[in-house]
Amino acid sequence: MLNIVLFGPPGAGKGTQSERLIEQYGLIHLSTGDVFRANIKGETELGQLAKSYMDKGQLVPDDVTINMLRSEVMKHENSAGFIFDGFPRTHAQALALDTFLATLNTEITSMLALEVEEEELKERLKKRAEVSGRVDDADPNVIQNRIQVYNNETAPVKSFYQAQNKYIAIDGIGSIDAITSRLFAAIDSL
Ligand code: ADP
Repeated sequence: MLNIVLFGPPGAGKGTQSERLIEQYGLIHLSTGDVFRANIKGETELGQLAKSYMDKGQLVPDDVTINMLRSEVMKHENSAGFIFDGFPRTHAQALALDTFLATLNTEITSMLALEVEEEELKERLKKRAEVSGRVDDADPNVIQNRIQVYNNETAPVKSFYQAQNKYIAIDGIGSIDAITSRLFAAIDSL
């Protein structure tokens, strides 16, 4: 299996690039943000809970997120692999993912990290707000909160994969095509 963690701050381009990676490598795209948003739309209990955190730019609690992720993976047990987009976002989530994948006799192949500086991220999120209809894109205070949560809780996940020699930095600045080419090149040389 080819299991990629696509990593990067809010607005780094994970969703856009995931679409291209799944097409090229036949992987399942698993975006925790997308699953939460689908649950909000479907007015499920999980959606209601997730919304109360997401609208403020906070993380949904680890136990809820980890359980949700596990059940999503189990829906596609026989796939060629996964792109994890927006997960793991905390050290506890990274640990849980390793443990869970081990029970399926597989593991994370690599973390590909899109690197984009903060000013550029804010610009991109402001533009996305005009089309996404996402509550968490619309308010600059919520965007600031998401970036702060990223820096405090999510950025440290990088060292978790560095310690396993699985971390690969990708320059996230440039055209969408240029960044896709960098990602393909990184995966093809694994
Ligand atoms: P972005 O990367 O642009 O912030 P996402 O769609 O990945 O957007 O996530 C949107 C929101 O969903 C997050 O701000 C958070 O509230 C929630 N969320 C998504 N993934 C996770 C996760 N792995 N753990 C906790 N909360 C999550």
